[in-house]
Amino acid sequence: MDFTESEEQALFRRQIVEFARARLNSGVKERESSGTFDRAGFLACAEIGLLGLPVPEAYGGLGQGVVSSMIAMEALGYGAEDQGLAFAVNTQLWTCEVPILHFGTEAQKQRYLPKLVTGELIGGHATTEPNSGSDAYAMETKAELKDGVWILNGNKTFITNAPIADVLIIFASTGESKGFGGGITAFLVETDQKGVQIGPPLKKMGLKTSPMAEVHLEDVVVPPEMVLGKKGGGAAIFSSEMEWERSCLFACHLGAMARQLEKCVEYAKERKQFGQAIGKYQAISHRLANMKLRIEMARPMLYKVGWLKDQGQRAVLEAAIAKLYVSEAYVQSSLDAVQIFGGYGYMEEYDVERMLRDAVGSVLYSGTSDIQRNIIARWLGL
Ligand SMILES: Cc1cc2nc3c(=O)[nH]c(=O)nc-3n(C[C@H](O)[C@H](O)[C@H](O)COP(=O)(O)OP(=O)(O)OC[C@H]3O[C@@H](n4cnc5c(N)ncnc54)[C@H](O)[C@@H]3O)c2cc1C
Repeated sequence: MDFTESEEQALFRRQIVEFARARLNSGVKERESSGTFDRAGFLACAEIGLLGLPVPEAYGGLGQGVVSSMIAMEALGYGAEDQGLAFAVNTQLWTCEVPILHFGTEAQKQRYLPKLVTGELIGGHATTEPNSGSDAYAMETKAELKDGVWILNGNKTFITNAPIADVLIIFASTGESKGFGGGITAFLVETDQKGVQIGPPLKKMGLKTSPMAEVHLEDVVVPPEMVLGKKGGGAAIFSSEMEWERSCLFACHLGAMARQLEKCVEYAKERKQFGQAIGKYQAISHRLANMKLRIEMARPMLYKVGWLKDQGQRAVLEAAIAKLYVSEAYVQSSLDAVQIFGGYGYMEEYDVERMLRDAVGSVLYSGTSDIQRNIIARWLGL
């Protein structure tokens, strides 16, 4: 594996960092306290090409591979302090655009991809339900074929982008057998369709600028041409999008960890106690060394997933390993950051506590840490 960046990739990385600092960071504190999504920032991300990273030029995108997309996401995470906005961007890319790109019909691609790439449309995906989280394929939302159309009924929860979404990929049960047995199907549903009701924004611990809501479906009529992939192919779509999300979204978190480390090193050099900079105390410098170690461990794990996928190989195990490691490293480093900043780290003003609150979500979404360990154990034959 060779992860050396091409000149083009390095330039794009620098451009994204500069763009994020210039266009996405002002007003982040105010948006965080009011829970406001930065639509202008989202559209600015589209303008620089971020919303079309993996989408071919024919649909208005940049046609980038997985490693290039990861580099771009790492740069976004590094430059953008508004991690809720970055999360919304990632949701649109990996859980809406990529499944349409890989499993959609030509008509579906033409209908949605160009507008998702420009940010004219916002998308997301809905798997989780009140009684079906980690056990995703035990979903109760049902789709029944009646008179040639699908009728969807059920309730989804924790759906990122739902309050601002135009189109959602809804996973529903269409048969008895679970998972890859063929009982789950994915549907493209527009949020203004009759019978779709989006609940009020859910209040979360972190990522407060990324809107989330419940989605209620009551006799929603979906024509057969809005089935994504084939009937019973939902598990394959979900599994494929998770590989993308577990690599690219977590590359964004890696970028955030690098920014966090720089902030902590700077503070450790400036802050003096007992007559010297706190960075001179081994308790602090070793904490910083551990933060650096985690970043260096995380990077090859993540990029290995991208490299495998760019070679056309599956990377289920590698994506689970990378996701597990990066998310737990992100939380631990965020706790270390609070400790390094002492009481100031606990105060909203310094942004350190916000990173911790944002980081905690990462051990939950895209499959919890326990679920990643289950996947790894399964690959070990257990
Ligand atoms: C910020 C955020 C954004 C999200 N965005 C979306 C979205 O856009 N779309 C969407 O569909 N969902 C989304 N989710 C939901 C997310 O996918 C679920 O929260 C996650 O899959 C866990 O499900 P749960 O919350 O029901 O927890 P549960 O499945 O009830 O788990 C509770 C606890 O039990 C453990 N557990 C469960 N089963 C096992 C097992 N077999 N072995 C060991 N431990 C187990 C879990 O690890 C966890 O610790 C989001 C969640 C968050 C926090």
